[in-house]
Amino acid sequence: MPLTNDTSRARAAGDRRPFEASFTRRTFLGGSAAILAAAAASRLVPPPLRAADPPVEARYYEKLSGARVRCLLCPRGCVVPDGGRGLCGVRENRGGVLRTLVYGRPCAIHLDPIEKKPFFHVLPGTSALSLATVGCNLDCKFCQNWQIARSRPEDAETRYTPPAAIVDRAVAASSPSIAYTYGEPVVFIEYVRDIAAHARSKGIRSVVISNGYIMKEPLLDLCRTVDAIKIDLKAFDDAYYRDVCGGSLAPVLETIATIRASGVWLELVYLVVPTLNDDPAKIREMARWIVSNVGPDVPLHFSRFFPQYRLANLPPTPVSTLDRAHDACRDAGIRFVYVGNVPGHEANHTICPQCGKRIIARSGYRIEAIEMRNGACRFCGETIPGIWREA
Ligand code: SF4
Repeated sequence: MPLTNDTSRARAAGDRRPFEASFTRRTFLGGSAAILAAAAASRLVPPPLRAADPPVEARYYEKLSGARVRCLLCPRGCVVPDGGRGLCGVRENRGGVLRTLVYGRPCAIHLDPIEKKPFFHVLPGTSALSLATVGCNLDCKFCQNWQIARSRPEDAETRYTPPAAIVDRAVAASSPSIAYTYGEPVVFIEYVRDIAAHARSKGIRSVVISNGYIMKEPLLDLCRTVDAIKIDLKAFDDAYYRDVCGGSLAPVLETIATIRASGVWLELVYLVVPTLNDDPAKIREMARWIVSNVGPDVPLHFSRFFPQYRLANLPPTPVSTLDRAHDACRDAGIRFVYVGNVPGHEANHTICPQCGKRIIARSGYRIEAIEMRNGACRFCGETIPGIWREA
C-alpha cells in the first residue's frame, strides 16, 4: 500500500512499530536483508499453529476445463491452473478448487488511532484494532508496505486467528472498530467478511482501507458487511495506473461510485507523487468527477509522498503542490479536503463548510477539540456527514 495508508502515515510521523509476524523467506520483490532482519527480530508471536487444511475455499471464482479456475474477485480475472496461484499470490488452485491461503492468518495486528487510516469523519479520537494479511493485487512502485504486499503466505510466520478471536481482541481493547488495512483487504475478503459479521453482532464497526481494485459482486457483499471504506485513488489517469501500479483506473472509479450508492461511508485518499500524478489539470478533472459522481460530501485527503521502494529517486511532494491541489478541489465544490503527512498543516483540521469555524482540531493523530453536537457544527448547526456514534 502506498504512502496514503495508515502505516506509511505512521512512519512519516516517526511511528515504526514492528510487524507482528516475522517474514522467513526472501521472496519479496526488491527484498532487503536489513528489513528482513528487522522483521525477524520483531517476532512477537508464538510459533505458528496449523490452520484448516486444506485452506478455506475462496469465494468468487468459476471452474474451467482441465481443473483450471478463473478468479472473479478482482479485475485481473486470473485464470489459474491446478497447483498455481493468482497474481496476488494468496489464492491457489488445488485440484480445481480455488482456496485462500490467508484466511485466519493476520501478519500484523495493532491498535491505531482511526485518524491514522486516515478516516477523519468516522468516530474521531477512537482507536481501531487494525490487521492485515500478506498479498496485494496491485504492484505500486511507491508501496510503503511492500514487505506485506509482496510476501507470499509461506514467507510469514503467522498464528492462526479465527474471526471470533479478532473480535474478542477488539472487545478487550475497548476498540469500537476493526480496520482491515496495511495490506490489501480485497485479497483477504473472506476473512474480512467473517470478522465484520461477527463484529457487528457485538456492536463493533468495521472499516476497510483498500485500493478499490475489486469486481462489483464481491464489493457489494463487502458493503453489506462493513461500515466505512477508504479508497486510495492513485491518479485520475489510466496510464499512471498501468505504468506505476500495474492496474487500470476505470474499475476503481466504478468501485467508488458503487460504495457511495450503497450508503457505506466513503473517504478518498490521493497520494501526490511529484512529476507523476501532480498535473493540476488532471486534479481539477478528478474533482469534477467526484462532485458529479459521488457528490461534494465525500472527504478527500491529499497525502504527501516521501521517496521509497521503487520511487526512491523522486523528491518529497512540495507542500505548495499539495496546497494547489487542495484549493482546486475546494474551488470545485468538494466540502472536506484535507492535506496529510504535513504536520501542523491547517488542512489537517475539519472546517465547517457553512460557517468556516474549526470543528475538529487535530495535532498529528491526536484530537485536540471536537466542536460538534449530534453530528452537526456546534456554532451554526450545519450537519456534518460521517459516522459520529459508536454502533
Ligand atoms: S484476487 Fe488475486 S487471484 Fe483473484 S483475480 Fe485478483 S490477483 Fe488474480
